[in-house]
Amino acid sequence: MPESKSMPESKQEKMPKFEQNKVFSHKLLDGRVLLITELGKITSLTEEEFKNFKEGKIPKFVFQKLEKGHAIVTKHNRPYVVDDYKLRYGHVCDGVSLHIINPTMRCNQNCLYCYANSFPLQAKGVDMDEKTAKKVIDFIWEGPKKEIVIEFQGGEPLANFPIIEFIVNYVKGKKGKKVHWRIVSNLTMMDETIASFLEKNSIFDICTSIDGPKEVHNKNRPWSGGNSFGKAVHWINCLKQDYSFKSIGALCTVTKNSLPHAKDIVNTYVELGLPDLTAVPIRRIGLAEKNWGKIGYRGEAYFEFWKQALEACIEKTKAGQKISEQISVLSLSKMNRFEPNYHTCFSKPCGAALMQASYQPNGDVFSCDEAKAEPLFKIGNVKQPYKQVFTSPAALNLVSLSSGLGFACNECKFTGFCRFCPVLTYCTQGNLIPKLAMDEDCKLKKKQFSYLLEKLFSEDSRVFEQWLKG
Ligand code: SF4
Ligand code: SF4
Repeated sequence: MPESKSMPESKQEKMPKFEQNKVFSHKLLDGRVLLITELGKITSLTEEEFKNFKEGKIPKFVFQKLEKGHAIVTKHNRPYVVDDYKLRYGHVCDGVSLHIINPTMRCNQNCLYCYANSFPLQAKGVDMDEKTAKKVIDFIWEGPKKEIVIEFQGGEPLANFPIIEFIVNYVKGKKGKKVHWRIVSNLTMMDETIASFLEKNSIFDICTSIDGPKEVHNKNRPWSGGNSFGKAVHWINCLKQDYSFKSIGALCTVTKNSLPHAKDIVNTYVELGLPDLTAVPIRRIGLAEKNWGKIGYRGEAYFEFWKQALEACIEKTKAGQKISEQISVLSLSKMNRFEPNYHTCFSKPCGAALMQASYQPNGDVFSCDEAKAEPLFKIGNVKQPYKQVFTSPAALNLVSLSSGLGFACNECKFTGFCRFCPVLTYCTQGNLIPKLAMDEDCKLKKKQFSYLLEKLFSEDSRVFEQWLKG
């Protein structure tokens, strides 16, 4: 579809004045045509309505549909169109809200896909010390956001628990910001002392990894202590039953080992009472790159896996069980919906150096946590002033890159739902500018968006509504 333009005057005689917005068309399998704005707002037309629309013949009821879907801009809907832009891009001016602190780069597991390039437990010189921890917090306090999330990652953050305690206690003496705490842990180093400390300090947001049934999980996430799945499950249950944790979050990383087990993985999540399945494809970063021959696959294989997982989640939801498929939820949250962006990887520009920053044990600041293994994505150090780091050329160039503006993405019908990851592009193509025709991630997303649009305009949309409300 062409760029914004006015309809020919002769065709406008009986219609109120309007301008055509920038819209793309997408044909559904049943023949209906979706008009999609560059922000992802959708109008569904019959084939005939679409043909007439292209010729500028617009009956009143179609005009109203187009106005509601922002496919055309009139004096009535213009303020709403502007509001949508403000909401969709609000995060550009908002300031960093997610601060990820890595207390250590040591870890007691050897996950085949670790993007952090972690060190063994006995390694020296890769822990954060108190002086740096203080500097990190003081640096974060220079930021404009009044409500922030401080998340501990690693390595395995619990391998340097004293620094977590130190940071939590140090923040107690600081004023002017509301902090939500989160820990991302494999849970194998959890114990009663740590669980009690977390409970006492209202640190209830814990996210762990569950890659599926025991066999799949333990193959993906080897641990010298043995059964890493059993240990994680023990603490998921224990934190909920013996302490006051209401729910534990989990992430599922999909390797070649996981591909035949989509349904088993969904069953495992339901059995463990984990209501959200986020089954992410492995990214060719860090150890995943080194192990690619063993655990890697093409986007097509992941797409088949994801479809099965999605269908299984839909069926279980229809049967009254509590499980949602989060890749869909995050994509659907941008289809026809306008809410502030809250997920750093599902925004455009993405959240790197805009909504998120990652702090290494030595105080180096990276644009996001996934970027920490690549020196190119270092944007500064906590010894520098906050403003200098987040307005550095390294930070601003990344923001500009992840906007997708200037790439073919800008002219893609899925641009309103899509996201672009400079880290992934750099790690897979050795370049920050994607060669989209060869980009596996782009091919995968196009298939996923097409599939989701079919579902969104089918009876399964009720399940999606349920998930989105959740
Ligand atoms: S660079 Fe990639 S991983 Fe990092 S926030 Fe952006 S989309 Fe997410
Ligand atoms: S990455 Fe691919 S699917 Fe996404 S907007 Fe760009 S061209 Fe379209």
